[in-house]
Amino acid sequence: MEQTKWPDSLWQATAAPLEIMPPLKSKTVCDVGIIGAGYTGLSTALHLAESDLKAVIVDKHQPGWGCSGRNGGQVNPNWKVLPQDIRKFYSEDEFERVIQVVNQTCDLVFDLVDRYAIECEAIRPGYVLGIVGRAGMSFIEKWSEQWQVVGADVVRLDKKTIEDLLGTDHYDGGMLDRRGGSVQPLSYARGLARACLKTGISIYGDSPAVSITRSNDGWLISCPQGEVSCRTVVIGTNGYTDRCWPGLTKTIVPVASLITSTTPLPDDVASQIIPNRNAVSESGGVPHYYRLDAENRMVFGGRGTITGKIGALDTRKLRQAAVKLFPGLKDAKWEYDWGGYVAMTTHHRPMLLKLEDNIFAGLGYNGRGVAMATMMGKQLAIQCKGERPDLTVDAPEKIPFHQFYPAGIAWRIIGGHVLDSFTRRI
Ligand SMILES: Cc1cc2nc3c(=O)[nH]c(=O)nc-3n(C[C@H](O)[C@H](O)[C@H](O)COP(=O)(O)OP(=O)(O)OC[C@H]3O[C@@H](n4cnc5c(N)ncnc54)[C@H](O)[C@@H]3O)c2cc1C
Repeated sequence: MEQTKWPDSLWQATAAPLEIMPPLKSKTVCDVGIIGAGYTGLSTALHLAESDLKAVIVDKHQPGWGCSGRNGGQVNPNWKVLPQDIRKFYSEDEFERVIQVVNQTCDLVFDLVDRYAIECEAIRPGYVLGIVGRAGMSFIEKWSEQWQVVGADVVRLDKKTIEDLLGTDHYDGGMLDRRGGSVQPLSYARGLARACLKTGISIYGDSPAVSITRSNDGWLISCPQGEVSCRTVVIGTNGYTDRCWPGLTKTIVPVASLITSTTPLPDDVASQIIPNRNAVSESGGVPHYYRLDAENRMVFGGRGTITGKIGALDTRKLRQAAVKLFPGLKDAKWEYDWGGYVAMTTHHRPMLLKLEDNIFAGLGYNGRGVAMATMMGKQLAIQCKGERPDLTVDAPEKIPFHQFYPAGIAWRIIGGHVLDSFTRRI
């Protein structure tokens, strides 16, 4: 089996190493077989460790190799959807439970970091959303009001306040969510993996699940050199979902997101940018997300390739946008470029799916999975224990016209750039 190749990212260069997880080379028996060692799979296993159910994880690569080791590290508590629209999907009781779960996602991340003493540069100065244009401002007004009513710790920001918070006059206003923050994402994933190993959970790397078949009263996950025999299967493969379970790929659309990062900025430059070190993102056509890391490197990301693929990792536009926002970056040395695949859903909500008796999947975080995938793991663990999770358990639904999604992405990105040009966004 070929050994994992890691993306050449800032996170890979700076995360504390984790020993290489060996491939599965035998038949192992457990209660819950987990496919995917990102936040979803690792958090599921860690939350199962509190019960007497034995979990085993297999990953095609190594823990944190997927989005969990590539993301912007923004612990973002928010769903884009308005509560009034979320309400339409659920009964009143389900709505209350879902909203509570969303409101607790960030606490869960920072609690796990504390409980398992995960060294991952975790800070919690809040998450800021920057808005340009009248339409965006009126949306954020409605969004903030509705989320405040259901308990979110969010405040609207006027132009002056957001300018002081971020050190750029680009935005007309925005929103501060005090619950958010940031982590070094790969260190967080590896910390979860270390916590799993300490509680006796086995993790096998370079072990793709190639099929899931029935066996006796349970399921058999087959990897090239070994098998996991289990009662329940959890799939946590998100934007890297392959065909190991037929049809799962059709429930999401994988879209590339790219990041570029500088070397540590000189103090006189760093002191002018996001002085409280908030995690920041934008709303709009083709939005950016950014923050300074623990060593004052600018980490700047965005969606945007028209094909939806990572392609040649062309981050020139991202760097230009960063310099327009913060002219002090004009002499910055850009060091790393990398990308990964987020999993989008058409309804903008993540999904806990029941695929078959005792086969569940958690995926579709729409690019906001640091907090939500961690929470999804907790919810999947509750489901595996036979209890009722707070998130609803849905049947998988194929996205209509899924085969045309590359055209849909191109259309969305081109439309986004046009929208941005009208709202003087970068
Ligand atoms: C560039 C980028 C920036 C982002 N920034 C942010 C951010 O700042 N904040 C935020 O909240 N979210 C962000 N996200 C999204 C977030 O990273 C994801 O939602 C989250 O990491 C999903 O975690 P996961 O465990 O579900 O999936 P992943 O971490 O992607 O893990 C899936 C795992 O499944 C494995 N796998 C796939 N198929 C198989 C198989 N057949 N057998 C075995 N293993 C398999 C893969 O090897 C992989 O390790 C970003 C994503 C990207 C790509």
